[in-house]
Parts: sequence; structure tokens; C-alpha cells
Amino acid sequence: MTPDGPAAARFTSATHRDRINRAAAAAAERGVEALLITPSPDYAYLLGYQAPAMERLTCLVVPADGVPTLVLPRLEEPLARHGLGELADDVELIAWDEAEDPIQVVKARLGTALRVALQDQMWARFALRLHAALDPAQLVEAGPTMSALRAVKSPEEVERLRAAAAAADEAMTAISRERLSGRTEAAVSARIRELLLEAGHETAGFAIVASGPNSASPHHTAGERVIEGGDAIVLDLGGTRAGYCSDTSRTAFVGEPPAEFAALFGVLQQAQRAACDAVRPGVPAADIDGVARGIIDDAGFGAAFIHRTGHGIGMETHEEPYLVSTNRAPLVAGHAFSVEPGIYIDGTWGARIEDIVICTESGGERLNTTSTDLVIVD
Ligand code: ZN
Ligand code: ZN
Ligand code: ZN
Repeated sequence: MTPDGPAAARFTSATHRDRINRAAAAAAERGVEALLITPSPDYAYLLGYQAPAMERLTCLVVPADGVPTLVLPRLEEPLARHGLGELADDVELIAWDEAEDPIQVVKARLGTALRVALQDQMWARFALRLHAALDPAQLVEAGPTMSALRAVKSPEEVERLRAAAAAADEAMTAISRERLSGRTEAAVSARIRELLLEAGHETAGFAIVASGPNSASPHHTAGERVIEGGDAIVLDLGGTRAGYCSDTSRTAFVGEPPAEFAALFGVLQQAQRAACDAVRPGVPAADIDGVARGIIDDAGFGAAFIHRTGHGIGMETHEEPYLVSTNRAPLVAGHAFSVEPGIYIDGTWGARIEDIVICTESGGERLNTTSTDLVIVD
């Protein structure tokens, strides 16, 4: 897997040391004796650099109590030393040679541990071999520990999300001023990718351009359709900047929209705004979804809102917390997530508005600052 923008996701060594300590403490609280973290956003979050995920095992062993160990192929050691910087003082490195079995190296570090958590995106080939080698230890997901830590952003992380959102806004504003009719979705999408990079993203992650009837497909892939007068266009773009993700959607219309579309859009805009306004600590994530869904339902579009209201965002575009009817967990200050209701009328048109919002002590703060109004384009 290729995690989002990990190369730049570095903070001070003290910050990474603190994250490792908090991960160990959270593991202990769950009765987990060690976390096994393979290359992934979790790995970069803890260590401040990313290692390649490949057939040779790299695995950070974080014991609930004791010194963390980084088990890695000998040839990856220079990269790790460079990536860890001062943090190398706190992490014991064990390099394995080509003829060695790294699973046995990890097993030796774990001793008699009976409850071990595996990073959620660990390759099956490692997970299955660990399962066999560590028998009778119980293996559980590291996700609950790591996502709870990562979901609450520090002020430094919020600053990175803010800068990423500003860069995405810049790209959105620029594309909104261009003539879109007569161009293919694919050409506009390629242009958005250029704009994302020009605005300071290190990667242009995605650029959805869904025009005409395609706008009713939330994750439409930009294709060869030529944009024309009377099209609704859902623009959804984002990338990473300094290791943190942006993600914003606006809806455009080529020319003056018919009254029917304007009415649909008005409902959506009201729902999105009300959901943003409902954000504050202590409110269950499900309730934010409920606010948007209630307004859309009442207007008769309930069946056309076919996805959750939002997702957490940070080093990954989609992470905890999810704003979905089943997530009763309360929001806490520092949570960062999208608020992105949409209305999709199959075969005709669709619309979506998406902002990244931070839950602060005093309520929700929108990081995207472009107008949510329908964008009229040529
Ligand atoms: Zn999406
Ligand atoms: Zn999103
Ligand atoms: Zn999006």
C-alpha cells in the first residue's frame, strides 16, 4: 500500500516519542502486551518517516511496557537511521539478514506475550505467519488503539490540515474561474491535479469531475465525456501537503440552473451548513449525520442521499471518526472530519458540498473557506 504523504509527516523527535509512549499506554489499557506496526500511516505517525511496505518484513514492536524495537531488513537500516534522527536513541534497531526468518526475530522480542495487536493494513502473508508462529497468543486489531490516538489532532496537526485545506481552496477557486464546457472531464481533472500541485500539495491525490448524468455517481471517475451547457458538475479534489490531506467538494453548473436543480441545491446547502453548525464536543458523530439527513429527508430527497455525511481526515483521506448513523461515539475537541452531504438523482444530476471541519471547544471550525454557493461556470 502507499499511504498518503508520509514522507513529510514528521514532527519533532519529542512529539514522536510522546506518540509511541501514548500508544504503549493505550495498548496496556486494552490488555494488549505489544503492538506490531508495519509500514502504514500508523508507522509514519509513530516514527516520523515511512518505510516501504514490501515482501521483506519491517515491523515496529511497541511493547505495552519496555523499549520499542524496530525489526527491519538489513538494507533498510540506513533509511531508518536517517528517518528516525534523534528518535533512534529511543528505539532499538534489529536488522535481519536475507537468510534469516524475520517472523522468528519478532517472536523472540515478544517472549510469552499472549495478546498482541497487528496494524490493520499489515499484509496477510505476515499476519498469517505471525498467527502460526505466536500460537497460542490471541491476535487483535491495532486499529482501535491507533485510530483513537490519531483521530485527535494536535494544534500542529490542525495547522497542517488548515494549510492543506487552503491549498485545496486555491485549486478549487482557480478551476471555478475557467471555462469548463467543451472540455472532457478527464482534461479538467488533469488541470485540477496541476492546480493542486501549484498550490503547494506534494501529491495530487484525486480530482473527481462528474458532469451531467455522471454527477449522480458520487465517486465517478473522470472520463471522456465532454462537458456541455446545462450540466451539473461535482468537483471533488484533494491531495497531501506536509503529510496531511485535503478534501473538498463544490458543485458547479454550466449556465443558469433550472429551478428544479436550484431547489435541490438549496436543500443541500442548508443541510451542509446545519451539520457544520451542529458540531461541538460531546455530540455523537451520528447526530451530525442525522442533522444533514433530516433536512434532506424532509425535503423529499432522503433516498437520494446514498452515503454517510463524512469521514475523519488526517494522514489519510478517510480515517476515524466516521459521521455515520451507527457511530454513537461523541465528538471531542481535535477531531477533524469532512461534512459532505450529497443528493444524487440517477440518470439526471447530482450535487455535493464538502468542507473539512475541526471540532473545537467552542464548536465546529470550517477549514475550507470558499463559498458553498452553486458555482456558475461557462
Ligand atoms: Zn468520497
Ligand atoms: Zn471526503
Ligand atoms: Zn471529497
